[in-house]
Amino acid sequence: MKPSQRLQEIEDFKSSYIKKIQEVSGEYLAESSVLDQYQALAEIVMDKTASQWAKTRSQYDEVPHKRVYLFSIEFLIGRLLKSYVNSLGMEETVRIAMAELGLNYQTILSQEADPGLGNGGLGRLMACFLESSATLGLPFHGNGIHYKHGLFEQKIINGEQVEVADNWLRHGYPFEIKKPHESVVVKFYGHLRSERIDGVLTFVLEDYEPILAVPYDIPVKGYHNNTVNSLRLWSAEPVEEFDLPSFNEGQFLDAVRHKSEAEAITQILYPNDSQFDGKQLRLKQEYFFVCAGLKRMITRFKRYNNDCLDEFADKICIHINDTHPALCGPEMMRIFMDEEGLSWGDAWKITVNSLTFTNHTVLPEALEKWPADMMKFLLPRIYMIIEEINRQFQEDLRLEPGLNELQINALSIIQDNQVNMANLAIICSHSVNGVAELHSKILKEETFNGYYQLFPERFHSVTNGVTPRRFLINNNTGLRDLITESIGTDWINNLFALEKLMNYQNDPPFIDQFNQIKLDNKINLSNYIKEHNHITINPDSIFDIQVKRIHEYKRQLLNALQILHLYNYLKANPHIDIVPRTFIFAGKAAPGYYFAKEVIKLINYIADLINKDNGIRDQIKVVFLANFNVTLGEIIYPAANISEQISTAGKEASGTGNMKFMMNGAITLGTMDGANIEIHEAVGKHNIITFGLSADEVTHYQKYGGYSSVQIHENDPRIQKIMRQLIDGTFGHLDNFQSIYDALLLYNDTYFVLKDFDAYTKAQDRINELFKDQNKWFEMSLSNVAYSGLFSSDRAILDYQKNIWKTL
Ligand SMILES: *Cc1c(COP(=O)(O)O)cnc(C)c1O
Repeated sequence: MKPSQRLQEIEDFKSSYIKKIQEVSGEYLAESSVLDQYQALAEIVMDKTASQWAKTRSQYDEVPHKRVYLFSIEFLIGRLLKSYVNSLGMEETVRIAMAELGLNYQTILSQEADPGLGNGGLGRLMACFLESSATLGLPFHGNGIHYKHGLFEQKIINGEQVEVADNWLRHGYPFEIKKPHESVVVKFYGHLRSERIDGVLTFVLEDYEPILAVPYDIPVKGYHNNTVNSLRLWSAEPVEEFDLPSFNEGQFLDAVRHKSEAEAITQILYPNDSQFDGKQLRLKQEYFFVCAGLKRMITRFKRYNNDCLDEFADKICIHINDTHPALCGPEMMRIFMDEEGLSWGDAWKITVNSLTFTNHTVLPEALEKWPADMMKFLLPRIYMIIEEINRQFQEDLRLEPGLNELQINALSIIQDNQVNMANLAIICSHSVNGVAELHSKILKEETFNGYYQLFPERFHSVTNGVTPRRFLINNNTGLRDLITESIGTDWINNLFALEKLMNYQNDPPFIDQFNQIKLDNKINLSNYIKEHNHITINPDSIFDIQVKRIHEYKRQLLNALQILHLYNYLKANPHIDIVPRTFIFAGKAAPGYYFAKEVIKLINYIADLINKDNGIRDQIKVVFLANFNVTLGEIIYPAANISEQISTAGKEASGTGNMKFMMNGAITLGTMDGANIEIHEAVGKHNIITFGLSADEVTHYQKYGGYSSVQIHENDPRIQKIMRQLIDGTFGHLDNFQSIYDALLLYNDTYFVLKDFDAYTKAQDRINELFKDQNKWFEMSLSNVAYSGLFSSDRAILDYQKNIWKTL
């Protein structure tokens, strides 16, 4: 852009912004609140986005490409205002205009609520996929739930997690458009009546409870292109708003109760990550957004296809993100048969050919199994269809040579009076995939081996990815600008081009700038820590970071115990010098997950013990940052030197935090688990630090025994000391961390924390040595950025297109 054009653009923006402020607030700029200033900017970007949105829709209708609908119970989208500004190409203009108007752009951006409509990686993945598909110009849409309250806000009080209700809609949400005319009635409960209509046995649901599903659309803007896709989130409302004057008191109260019962369905996101919660309300949520999303989609499809469903599976792909939307299978069957008059056989063909399924975890406690009675009561017709799918499937199996009844039963959708949702999803889909190579291998060889034997061609693997726009370009602007100055702009849409950065590994000015950017990002995080935790951090220390949901399998406990040991070591050797280290944690525990909350408490107690001890000369500091979410991640990932990815091998399906860290130049300290294995391969063994049991070794111990944590304890005085400290009053009461002590020693350490302890401390020692050689460290860090191309969600989307959705 010519400078004169830029100047004009800035002037135009300023005048339209001043005008907008008046429209939203009825105030002049000088009188307006920061919230008004935020609202006004939000409206400006929505106006600009909306015109592209309409155009994208009509283009898709003119040239009908195969569409992909991502069905997911979570979309963890993060704040959007800056994303819209940047993807519209307005970044410079807005930044300069705000400064000239005397406004603080950062403060304005911070007014936006971060919609916590997901728990962690699974929901964030869907947000990255939406961003990537829009940037690639592909017709993809999200379909999910408009939770009134997202994931709770975490406070830390006296070292413990306290949950506060999230209220992201408090000030309204400027990036959604309510579409009441596209509402759908979803039917729960009721009784089935069968009748013959034209000789065909037909089922009609009677006495059901109708709930209105009302869609809210959020535009998903591609980066520097004209594509705007949609994320559609459904909200529950009563079907009939009551008519106030005509009610007597009793009816009024009934009506209010009815309204809140209806609204309950989308009131709250269940806060469990990798843990099944079998509440009936959750099952209602699952059917609710599946039913509404499919109904609208099929209605639209018929409108553009002469009321004919023949080509449905050629033009539509419905992706089931983990098992929560698995009722898509039986619900499509219901719509096609009961509403569209198709035969079972025709309906089944379309259903299977349109559905694809991604599994996200192999933890047995996470796999959804609904009580058959509950499902039958809540969704009588759906349950009937599931029974019939299962009956026909078993009939087919009996024709297979060599399968006995035991094996057939192991593949049943309904087992022990429970509906196994993974089995349902696999049987109703033509593709099943894991999210990293190891995970997909475990699915084939262990978790879903029976199905793999039957349908080997259905099984695939697509390694997850993250969007570089959010996790590098928009939130590590220093590194972004250095990269672009060095290698041009290609990399923004082709992250593999980052490999060209390796040409700069011996370029002194580049090295200085690269290191300075990391330091700036660390100072930025230090300021945040100072403000929120009142702890002073040395920005030259190694920033060693573990941020993710708190879960036993992710082993924050291993990290905490290692820190306690390091502290003991420094106390015992007061003249030893180590490279100063800042251990940073963040993450939420599910409110009902006692053990995970104890781990948070332990980390905070260790932090307190260490941070207050002058005897160790500030060589280590420990920080727990409250309320980890996408927004906090945006300032944490760019500031990391070490990315802690230390799950028990075989348990972390992929991880995506590992990819965000890598892209920002952190070195992974990890087990050979999930996508760490592919990071290892991409970056080379000299640029990552791995340790610990392999997945095969873990499986072997689990199957055949042979691991004794007590024995490890007996032979390692360091472990004896830290274990004693858990219960000897070091942290207050004598029995303070008894549950952790018991899990590790009495119950033989299910997650192999003590087994991997020694290897982990040695890996930490290596980091201490490596960091002393700053040239070497720079090379490692640069290599991580340069070889992160594989971990862009653009690549993941292209993989899905080629191998699963067949949309290329
Ligand atoms: C990326 C991300 C996650 C996933 O992190 P993992 O380390 O892969 O578990 C969770 N929460 C948020 C807010 C994220 O941005």
